[in-house]
Amino acid sequence: MPKEPDTGYDPTLGRKFIFVTGGVMSGLGKGITAASTGRLLSNAGFDVTAVKIDPYLNVDAGTMNPYQHGEVYVLKDGGEVDLDLGNYERFLGVDMTSDHNVTTGKTYQHVIEKERAGDYLGKTVQIIPHITDDIKRRIREAAEGTDVCIVEVGGTVGDIEGMPYLEALRQFAHEEDDDDILFTHVTLVPYSKNGEQKTKPTQHSVKELRSIGLQPDVLVGRCENELDPETKEKIALFCDVPTEAVFSNSDVEDVYHVPLMVEEEGLDEYVMERLDLRPEALPKPERDNRWRELVTRERTEEVDIALVGKYDLEDAYMSVHEALKHAGIERRTEVNVLWVDSDEMLDRHEHRLKEADGVVVPGGFGSRGTAGKIKAIQYCRENDVPFLGLCLGFQMAVVEHARNVLGLESAHSAELEPETPHPVIDILPEQYEIDDMGGTMRLGAHDTEIEAGSLAEAVYGDTVCTERHRHRYEVNPEYIERLEDGPLSFSGRANNRMEILERTDHPYFFGTQFHPEFRSRPDRASPPFVGLLDAITGDLDARKLSGETEVQA
Ligand code: GLN
Repeated sequence: MPKEPDTGYDPTLGRKFIFVTGGVMSGLGKGITAASTGRLLSNAGFDVTAVKIDPYLNVDAGTMNPYQHGEVYVLKDGGEVDLDLGNYERFLGVDMTSDHNVTTGKTYQHVIEKERAGDYLGKTVQIIPHITDDIKRRIREAAEGTDVCIVEVGGTVGDIEGMPYLEALRQFAHEEDDDDILFTHVTLVPYSKNGEQKTKPTQHSVKELRSIGLQPDVLVGRCENELDPETKEKIALFCDVPTEAVFSNSDVEDVYHVPLMVEEEGLDEYVMERLDLRPEALPKPERDNRWRELVTRERTEEVDIALVGKYDLEDAYMSVHEALKHAGIERRTEVNVLWVDSDEMLDRHEHRLKEADGVVVPGGFGSRGTAGKIKAIQYCRENDVPFLGLCLGFQMAVVEHARNVLGLESAHSAELEPETPHPVIDILPEQYEIDDMGGTMRLGAHDTEIEAGSLAEAVYGDTVCTERHRHRYEVNPEYIERLEDGPLSFSGRANNRMEILERTDHPYFFGTQFHPEFRSRPDRASPPFVGLLDAITGDLDARKLSGETEVQA
């Protein structure tokens, strides 16, 4: 049953769908534009959700290289999805499921399975209607229980792979009432050499949309600066929309300011008007103002954090960057991230590590760069530099301890050195039989029990936490006694799985087998990240001494 919305909005009036497409080129930030629109609607009291359509043939993002698509984002239910879902979760403040990421792989797999099971009774199975029907079903199901569903189509209009989706949206609009559907098209408005805003690419891209039967209701022009009134008029005239339906989305320093910018442009009001949502929306002064308050908070401190990874691409560690930002919001601290390439750690980038106030070693797969990560962890341990290790970063902290403290010189993770005589990180015996890439990982939210009186308890303010996972390997139970015979302890566990490690001989040496970054939100900073900042500014000691453990706003 649909949940009664805050505004008293009556869903029998029709659920609203905002379809967002992109033109001219990818990477224009249409996901952020869409998420920002959603945020404003949720500020106005509506229950908003989102669906991201990825027209690629992969079933999910699990096996994709972060170099091409950025990080693999992990949902509560274990779904390995496109990083845009992370943006939607952070902007809308809601948890999504794998059903909110529609891919060609999923759709075709489902339809082909049905065909094999004989469900189509001798019919010819075709893109139209079988694939398009399945796409529409997925969108409707994901929207269930909400007032507004934003559906973003990945890629650019004109891509062959995207065609079945645009056709499905055309049919969808045909099946629903006019005021329940809104098409938003995000395009690029470049400058010519003489400083003129050029609308031709937008015109062409809209022409392409119209040739497949889609007429945009709203156009958003990505441009370095605001669109000039003449530019808007020209776009309106050629693309057949009212001038008030053309909005600019200009460059901003921080993507979290995009909701503020599009609000100033009046995009939310226009969308509500068109979808007949305005009568139900909260009056302006009563709208939720938390987002603005959070993203415009004054910063009183500044810290430098080294991020030691192997992909020289910010998107590959997007949620880690975001989680650092959220901890900064929570503690009114400007967090600067210093990139340390783990391959360069041993020479060119070492000085960056030394300049940093704290160090994060994030997750990863494969052996490239691990020597540099281990070196960075050793440096933190020996020099009392606050350290946070995530997943592979946690595992490498175990390896570093085994090698350099316990003297097990060739200790390693069995993933990275299968022949190691000391596999301190290994597959658990109960996992041995499973051997299928992409399907054997421990994924999604699981509980961790936290030891009372530990640093972990001070960090989480609780004796249990529920965080998201994405890993195959674990601390080898055969080595736990030896590893814990000293200042290192596993203060968070899930039965025989080690989840959190800490050291008593260090101001903040904290590792997690899970990925706390995926649960972090602007208004719900992740405790291990806040702990890292507190350790740097000296607040962690005060927190531990006073027994005050609550870190969240
Ligand atoms: N490669 C390691 C494992 O599979 C760590 C995974 C990660 O960092 N996400 O256990």
